[in-house]
Amino acid sequence: MARTKYIFVTGGVASSLGKGIISASLAKLLQSRGFSITIQKLDPYINVDPGTLNPYEHGECYVTQDGAETDLDLGHYERFTNVPTSQENNVTTGSIYQTVIQKERKGDYLGQTVQVIPHITDEIKRRIMLLGKTGRYDFVITEIGGTVGDIESLPYIETVRQMRWELGRDCAVIHLTLVPYLSAAGELKTKPTQHSVKTLLESGVQPDIIVCRTEKPLNDNLKGKIALFCNVEPSSVIESIDAKTIYEVPILMKKENLDTEILRKTLMPIDNEPDLKKWEEFLYKLKHPQSEVEIGLVGKYVELKDAYKSITESFVHASAVNECKVNLRLIHSERITGNTAAELLDDLDGILVAPGFGERGIEGKIFSIQYARENKIPFFGICLGMQCSVVEFARNVLHYDKAHSTEMNRLTKYPVIDMMEEQKKIKGMGGTMRLGAYPCKLNKDSKVYSIYQSVNINERHRHRYEFNNEYLAEYEKAGMIASGINTKDNLVEIIEIKDHPWFIGVQFHPEYQSTVAKPHPLFTSFVKAANVYRQSKTKPLNLQRFDL
Ligand code: GLN
Repeated sequence: MARTKYIFVTGGVASSLGKGIISASLAKLLQSRGFSITIQKLDPYINVDPGTLNPYEHGECYVTQDGAETDLDLGHYERFTNVPTSQENNVTTGSIYQTVIQKERKGDYLGQTVQVIPHITDEIKRRIMLLGKTGRYDFVITEIGGTVGDIESLPYIETVRQMRWELGRDCAVIHLTLVPYLSAAGELKTKPTQHSVKTLLESGVQPDIIVCRTEKPLNDNLKGKIALFCNVEPSSVIESIDAKTIYEVPILMKKENLDTEILRKTLMPIDNEPDLKKWEEFLYKLKHPQSEVEIGLVGKYVELKDAYKSITESFVHASAVNECKVNLRLIHSERITGNTAAELLDDLDGILVAPGFGERGIEGKIFSIQYARENKIPFFGICLGMQCSVVEFARNVLHYDKAHSTEMNRLTKYPVIDMMEEQKKIKGMGGTMRLGAYPCKLNKDSKVYSIYQSVNINERHRHRYEFNNEYLAEYEKAGMIASGINTKDNLVEIIEIKDHPWFIGVQFHPEYQSTVAKPHPLFTSFVKAANVYRQSKTKPLNLQRFDL
């Protein structure tokens, strides 16, 4: 294998331009040409990881197989490339400083003054090279969080400068900017891009490629202007026009030759075309649905779609497989009460109760589950959603008065969901939950077995509380079975209701493993069940018409 090439993706002008999607799209294109790739995100905040961040601040916290709590962009990387990420793929300023300070305390720098340059930048470099040194990748793509010019990004940009200098053509820099359209002038404006590249140049970094996010196509004149002012070749000015779906971006980037530009800059062979057949098939199905369903996502972070990013993307994958458009309706759990449930949930074809923490909105989740269970609407509970379905069953079927999870009520008489023993000893907050992938064994006589078509599965977790096995026999007698178990620790990982068309609750997060290449079977089956449910609602009407 040739030497690993390091590609950096920086951003300028504005945040939220989609560096993550550009990085993932480039990775997809290189991968479709047969190169091995990995993508890494460097985040400039001082939290050691995003696990302690409120989803309102930063969107969903994504969990890797090896149990790292990471930025949601890692979810995009996995969904696009189907290559698992790990602890090494997300680095924050907090984690860099933590390592450097620990080393200093150990005496590793004895006698030296510990400084941003070289100690912090060396540690950043080490984290980037760590992936390259595995020898597994032709390309390590590193996305730098934030926007150039931010004080907190400076050590990262300085590291890019050093690496670009040291590695020469084994390294390339892509700068993503915004080319705004001023409707009053009827023009696209390049000045913000010029300024942003100047800012990058002040730190000694000359981008090799400029990707311009835009609402309208860039003509050659405009591209030429950007090339001239920013010292890049005209062919290295890439248009990134707004797309209907993020999954279109690799195709758009291919049209703009982002992949060949990178190969050319890094002196890599360009001897075949990317094989995107499967990707295009997926896109085609996504854009040409044969049916439609309305699914309610009940949670408490509904104002911010990114809070449930992996769930919403899993529905996109499942939607393509089923050729069925999924209209996702985000419903705030605090709005759902015994009185409003029917009105808010009545026309839904499926109800998903989301993961979450804490008491707020919990009763609304329980009411939605009761509604789904009693009306035989397909129900999918994820993590806290599963726990709520256990509580609902306890209260309304087993008649355990005020049964609860001890997360919400420590003194409940019926602690049907309780904290795991080893969790009780833990005091700190960061990285202390049950995190990452664990094996689970499925009961052959269950719906989940028929969905997964396998006895042994592996799914990723992020929680502190568990089903309380003391009550298991009563549940099973009443019709809610434990259909998936972690046999090593005897933990209930999946529950389902036998006498219901589709009622499944999972203690893990299936959404972290759904990718374009491998849509998650639970989401696929849930959408299928919602579709069947919808047909069953309309069928009597159709039959009547037919009879007439
Ligand atoms: N709050 C619950 C727990 O800690 C569920 C967590 C989640 O939904 N991710 O167990």
